[in-house]
Amino acid sequence: ILTTDGAKQWMFSIKERMEKNIDQLTALDQAIGDGDHGLNMVRGFTEVSGKINNVTYGSVSDVLKSAAMTLSAKVGGASGPLYGTAFLAMSVVFQDKEVDQQVLKQGIVEAAESIKKRGNVELGDKTMYDVWFQVGEVLDSEIEDWNDVAEVCQAMIEDTRELEASKGRASYLGNQSKGHVDPGSMSSFYIFEALVEVLK
Ligand code: ADP
Ligand code: MG
Ligand code: MG
Repeated sequence: ILTTDGAKQWMFSIKERMEKNIDQLTALDQAIGDGDHGLNMVRGFTEVSGKINNVTYGSVSDVLKSAAMTLSAKVGGASGPLYGTAFLAMSVVFQDKEVDQQVLKQGIVEAAESIKKRGNVELGDKTMYDVWFQVGEVLDSEIEDWNDVAEVCQAMIEDTRELEASKGRASYLGNQSKGHVDPGSMSSFYIFEALVEVLK
């Protein structure tokens, strides 16, 4: 079960992971984008952490709504509004509910769907959606252990390496985007890794 405090911890843990991996995210985005993804993520989740740190929230839904609005407002890059959309979709699903495993699954599936719509992407376009969709799929079916989620996620990231990007900046490179992992898929991995940690 994800508690209100757990949801805050999730955000703090994401921030730590983004900070720890800022150079990697930067390098990935330098290879197929404009090199700001590490900074975008650190800035975004630092803003989120600062915002939620001293506020008392009544529910998981409220924490995620606050995070969503902050990400959309403060990250100047495709990823900010997309992550904002994802957390907002989760927040809507979680409204007036206890966030047990079933509800959490539903939230992630809806979040993936919201990224798909907002980003106008399909599976295999080599974006963060690839990871979100895949995690939603796993949660929908066989998942009994949250550690499995991290594993699936990791495999999906590797899968983005050989794909040709057809959305976002990386698509400007066409065929040359092959051979590089998608930066947003990598940061999505840290988001789910942090969630798994909080749920343990
Ligand atoms: P920007 O590309 O504007 O500099 P970032 O570097 O922060 O923004 O984020 C890039 C990541 O955003 C990509 O690696 C990809 O995963 C994701 N992304 C970009 N465009 C889209 C889109 N239309 N739909 C879904 N995800 C996208
Ligand atoms: Mg970028
Ligand atoms: Mg940019």
